[in-house]
Amino acid sequence: MKFYSTHPSHHKVSFREAVIKGLAPNQGLYMPERIPVFAKNYFDNLHKKTFQEIAFDVARAFVEDEIPTDVLKAIIDQTVTFDAPLVEIEKNIFSLELFHGPTLAFKDFGARFMSQVLGYFVANEKKEVIVLAATSGDTGSAVANGFLGVPHTKVVVLYPSGKVSDIQEKQFTTLGKNILALEVNGTFDDCQHLVKQAFADPKLNEELFLTSANSINIARLIPQAFYYFYAGSRISQKQNIVFSVPSGNFGNLTAGLFAKRMGLPISHFIASTNANDSVPLFLKTKYFEPKPSVATLSNAMDVGNPSNFARILNLFEHHFNLLASEISGYAFSDEQTQSAMRSVFKQSGYVLDPHGAVGYLGLKKYQSKNPQTAGVFLETAHPTKFKEVVESTLQTQIVVPEKIQTFLLGTKKSILLPANYEAFKEVLKNETLMMQ
Ligand SMILES: *Cc1c(COP(=O)(O)O)cnc(C)c1O
Repeated sequence: MKFYSTHPSHHKVSFREAVIKGLAPNQGLYMPERIPVFAKNYFDNLHKKTFQEIAFDVARAFVEDEIPTDVLKAIIDQTVTFDAPLVEIEKNIFSLELFHGPTLAFKDFGARFMSQVLGYFVANEKKEVIVLAATSGDTGSAVANGFLGVPHTKVVVLYPSGKVSDIQEKQFTTLGKNILALEVNGTFDDCQHLVKQAFADPKLNEELFLTSANSINIARLIPQAFYYFYAGSRISQKQNIVFSVPSGNFGNLTAGLFAKRMGLPISHFIASTNANDSVPLFLKTKYFEPKPSVATLSNAMDVGNPSNFARILNLFEHHFNLLASEISGYAFSDEQTQSAMRSVFKQSGYVLDPHGAVGYLGLKKYQSKNPQTAGVFLETAHPTKFKEVVESTLQTQIVVPEKIQTFLLGTKKSILLPANYEAFKEVLKNETLMMQ
């Protein structure tokens, strides 16, 4: 399988090169040249397969022979070490709980897969690889934990100062070893811009072996298709399945579209956002206007210019009507989010985190017009990751899972930085030299 750039170019690369580069040289995002399609009868037995077996089949379809079978099996077994339960919280409303990994968010799937794939591909390189990750919260913790201790790799996490939760911050600032945290005086978009500038700087790339671990890396995206298949395997295929995806950079939704193209019967997608509503607005007006991000309670989705939007446009070959026939988009305020968290808790005792609540709201809105559907919303983070908000909204105490307690005991270590490229470059060069 070859991968092409979403920006026009005839150059195609291998999976290995797409993973190592992260972003294409012309600044586009890598896309598989075709989406592999499973035979129809593959789905007849899907319910008999384990999560790991399904994940292997999906990964194999993209990776082809670039990773030997035993290595890919081991990578999958090290990635999918936890379940993704489907919990029916109301009739025909399922929460797909993607938060049972080590950092309690769905990004564990992508980060754990990518770190091992990259580790495999660079094992024989002369220079160590430096992984740059801009984060609005959850990417940083998942990537840092995925790469912690992986040989030949160093991770630099950039995050907006004061704009991530305490627990999130602790998960990437307390690790040490091959993980460095840069606290940027700015927004998530500033962090993402610094990373993009670094990749576009030829001189820096001669000195340092840089790659990215944001959802732009194709090895982050592919494993996110695993759980759509797994969820699909456990819902009767006689029903129309719709997925509501609480979205920020739109990697999760893009992976769902991949799953559908691969043959998984999904009748519709709902792009659910907070006040950062460029995609729902696009679906309404046909005009895509990136905006500066605004801070909300569902802060991991505070993205004004979602990078994976380019991939979605490519999947639909820029045909608006086709795209709009498969995806609906709705945006919700913080007040609506909190009110949904309260009403669900009151009705069923189920605790939503603010991101899952946005997904739930999108699903309810869609189902109010399309009642004959089995609705799944992605519950992307454990409520404990947003403990303060959840507890004050629900007026109840939530129990912090044990795996998080250890992070909370650690001491934060970060380097403060203005949102300025020259300053970032200096720190990057000096500090990565000093790391173990
Ligand atoms: C990253 C994140 C999202 C948004 O996912 P995208 O793939 O960027 O759209 C949603 N919820 C949580 C908890 C996240 O960490």
